[in-house]
Amino acid sequence: MPNRKLKIENPVLINIGKLADRENTEAYVVGGYVRDALLGKEAEEIDVMVVGDGTSFAEAVALEYGKKPEAVYRNFGTALVMIDGMKTEFASARKESYRKDSRNPEIETATLEEDLSRRDFTVNALAVSLNKKSFGKITDLFGGLKDLEARTLRTPLDPEKTFEDDPLRIMRALRFASRFGFNIDPDALKAMNKMAHRLSEGVVSQERITNEFLLILDTPKPSTGLSLMFLSGVMDHVFPEISGLEGVEQKQEYHHKDVFRHTLTVVDNIAAVTDDIWLRFAALVHDIAKPMTKKFVEGEGWTFHGHEEMGARMMNSLFRRMRLPMNKLPYVEKLVRMHLRPIPLAKEEVTDSAIRRLAADAGEDLEDLLKLCRADITSKNPKKVEKYLKNFGIVEKRVIEVAEKDKLRNFQSPVRGEEIMKICGLRPSRTVGMLKKRIEDAILDGLIPNEYEDALKYLYQIKDEVISVPSKD
Ligand code: ATP
Repeated sequence: MPNRKLKIENPVLINIGKLADRENTEAYVVGGYVRDALLGKEAEEIDVMVVGDGTSFAEAVALEYGKKPEAVYRNFGTALVMIDGMKTEFASARKESYRKDSRNPEIETATLEEDLSRRDFTVNALAVSLNKKSFGKITDLFGGLKDLEARTLRTPLDPEKTFEDDPLRIMRALRFASRFGFNIDPDALKAMNKMAHRLSEGVVSQERITNEFLLILDTPKPSTGLSLMFLSGVMDHVFPEISGLEGVEQKQEYHHKDVFRHTLTVVDNIAAVTDDIWLRFAALVHDIAKPMTKKFVEGEGWTFHGHEEMGARMMNSLFRRMRLPMNKLPYVEKLVRMHLRPIPLAKEEVTDSAIRRLAADAGEDLEDLLKLCRADITSKNPKKVEKYLKNFGIVEKRVIEVAEKDKLRNFQSPVRGEEIMKICGLRPSRTVGMLKKRIEDAILDGLIPNEYEDALKYLYQIKDEVISVPSKD
């Protein structure tokens, strides 16, 4: 497709082109902006490549907008300028050479062609001229336009060398495949498989790998990226616990679903109802301890007793290893630990008290827990799914009603510890905790309403009895 042009209407790019002419510089818009524009999507960032000095050009552009660049990295020949709220990154055209123990290359200034050939995928290696004489002209040295049409990710140069030089490109391939629903060219996939081990050799920081992993989880249908991660052998290096969910067990007439496939369905189900990456993460790991708790019980079939508790306990070391933000740990632990709790509430004879306890334990994460539980309902039989979802809808309604009615969102005794101590003449001790718990239990069991006056009255009723029990402290 020679001489194809991209229609550029973005005033920032038109201005940059004018300035490039004035400064006698060749400037191109490259990378994700071009790819996304050709896919009919609006990009959030602009990458401008300058044949020559990218940082001085960035400074000239910034000056034109009455400002200075937000950041200048002279060593890398790059600079960032925020223009009309758009992140605009300028870079000198460069070529790179790699050492085996690092993904940070030696950098030299280069031509347009050399710069495009160091890029990760052909669809990311398109450049569009901003200079007047060739405004909008697409340079496509590696068949990126054709690959874009065929929705294929292919590396401009030898894929093995591409992934060996910078193994993060393996994760980027998976992210783009998942985000756009692109295929990965078979040779590239083979090379990813061969080079996957480079992801656990410390060449790429865990933070970068995790960042890409979360971006995959953030795509509209994460199972696309996750199953490719598995098929390419990347999951074994990046998240072996998830690979370990694969496997179908069969014994006599019993059989349980492959936990890996089930997990993918749950993640897609949750992705359809939330963009919250931590709720998506909780869905991914909710059954993570199933392989470790699996047992065959005669007459019952396969069981996974305690997998929710063990799974929750695995989260701390997982968060540390993957450098996930520790402030999200309690949330993920809670959802994993509680993910089975709402299901038995579908039985008709369930009391309000059981429902109140669930609502109190889930606290402000009650809705998220219900979403996870709903997403966890999967079966090959659509009739069954429909029936279970209908039943679960009744549970959801009842749980929300009870939680609202009894104000159980941030539940704790309406009479607080300080006051209990004052009324009972106690110092901080276990007895205070016991008194508080008795009040909370009375509310959850429906003995008294969740109101201050009632709780206070109840405290006066029970305090002597509780205080007379010798406390260990
Ligand atoms: P996004 O839409 O996610 O920002 P992008 O393609 O713009 O996608 P960036 O990380 O902003 O991604 O990178 C801009 C361009 O730089 C890419 O399109 C690609 O051409 C090149 N690039 C980025 N990272 C690498 C890499 N690790 N190896 C080779 N080329 C890369």
